[in-house]
Amino acid sequence: MEKIEFTVEPIPCSTKPIVYDETKCIGCGRCADVCQCDILIPSTEKGKPPIVMYPGECYYCGACVMVCPRPGAIKLVHPLMNRAKFIPVKEEQEGK
Ligand code: SF4
Ligand code: SF4
Repeated sequence: MEKIEFTVEPIPCSTKPIVYDETKCIGCGRCADVCQCDILIPSTEKGKPPIVMYPGECYYCGACVMVCPRPGAIKLVHPLMNRAKFIPVKEEQEGK
């Protein structure tokens, strides 16, 4: 089979959905395999976590976290707007 070499650069994005802990990750690639959006691609370095290639395409399903055999190796970070709780602001009325 012909070997094809190419380089990739992660697509810049304002969100960072996936955070790896390299001290816990064993680079098995299961998280990349299970991702239905294919936003993760395996690292070329053995034992290193996959590259988050298309962070803006993540829809936070959590499958990558659930399939990981090393607790804490991969963490899902939801966007701030998804974590915020909006409450009505009570305006102070005069005379009260
Ligand atoms: S499944 Fe877990 S241990 Fe395997 S590459 Fe992904 S983060 Fe690392
Ligand atoms: S949360 Fe879902 S869509 Fe996002 S990287 Fe993990 S498996 Fe892929």
